[in-house]
Amino acid sequence: MRLEDCRADFPLTRDLIYLDSAATSLTPKPVIQAMVGYDLRYRANVGRGVHRLTTIATHRYRDARDSIRSFIGGEGGAIAITRNTTEAIGMVAAGLPWKQGDRVVTTLLEHHSNLLPWLRLRKRGVEVDIVRPDAEGSLEIADLEAAVRDGTRLVAITHASNVLGTVIPVDEIAAICHDHGARLLVDGAQSAPHLPVDVSRMGCDYFCFSGHKMLGPTGTGALWMREPDIEPLLVGGGSIANVTADDYTLAPDEGRYEAGTPPVAGTIGFARAAAYLREIGMETVHRHDERLSARLIEGLSEVEGVRVLGAEVEGERIGVVSFTVDGLHPHEVAQILDEAAAVLVRSGHHCSQPLMEHLGLPEGTVRASTHIYNTEEEIDTMIATVEEIARRVA
Ligand code: PMP
Repeated sequence: MRLEDCRADFPLTRDLIYLDSAATSLTPKPVIQAMVGYDLRYRANVGRGVHRLTTIATHRYRDARDSIRSFIGGEGGAIAITRNTTEAIGMVAAGLPWKQGDRVVTTLLEHHSNLLPWLRLRKRGVEVDIVRPDAEGSLEIADLEAAVRDGTRLVAITHASNVLGTVIPVDEIAAICHDHGARLLVDGAQSAPHLPVDVSRMGCDYFCFSGHKMLGPTGTGALWMREPDIEPLLVGGGSIANVTADDYTLAPDEGRYEAGTPPVAGTIGFARAAAYLREIGMETVHRHDERLSARLIEGLSEVEGVRVLGAEVEGERIGVVSFTVDGLHPHEVAQILDEAAAVLVRSGHHCSQPLMEHLGLPEGTVRASTHIYNTEEEIDTMIATVEEIARRVA
């Protein structure tokens, strides 16, 4: 499918300029149809029973999970369906066998979902080292390397910043981790929807991502593991190989992480979303986001009173651009953009409060984020409206 032809699949784009895909993306019609198809034609619970509907549902669910795994090149590992990235990260934090003196290395670029689980472990005697980016938000790999000493059990880092749009070279970090016997968790919430991802080449041990940010339904995400070696968060129906009155053995595969009825329709929709993106091609998606964000950065940088964050940081980017307008709170800017031009952007700290403090912006930023359905005309409307807003306060 050609990227230019996909817009008709997203009815909301008719009346609105949706630039909040980093929070959650829009969903195309084929994804909705795939989910409705389950409910109308073969709805049944999965993995438990032999009747015709449960057989179809079980096959479709497992196929869907497998195709989500292959979307990130994860055939060599295990994948568990979760509610979102937050749950996937939380499962690793809860499931590794921590002991006093273990170390976790993370960074100040993280979303709260990849920071709070580690801060909580600190209360249990785990040492947590937080590597700081510079004043522009650029992370020095040498600083990270210096922090990953022997005794580091885990490095937890984002693949792409949800505030600055910058991409972190996680494959370089994987090599550093493995030199020191540390495992690497990559928060792929912002990369899986926008970049070609191949976990087999990346060298991470855990990759966490959200279906709802990549054209899939809300309530879906995934945890990919090189080895399914963490303790499950929950145990119960569906997660076992055998149970006696006194004991149980867990399922040998990823089923052990999916106790209870999984989000069947959601997973089928998630897999359809992955197929939709694959039909367009993730290289094409990436180039489209880069083109739009470059246009936005250039346009906004020329507006007096506007400061674009992280514009100088080198390297690859996703379609996320943060900025401030002198004299206005980010929420005011977002509100005017909506009222004046139906441009929907996010404002505030973007669940990255420590990063905002570090950048000297406690009130946060305005953030525009793109996906396949956005156009250059929409970006130009956004720039023109911000220009107008900035002129009014000057
Ligand atoms: N990490 C990053 C980098 C994110 O951008 C987000 C979502 N904003 C999350 C984690 C959390 O994702 P979810 O809300 O789907 O759990």
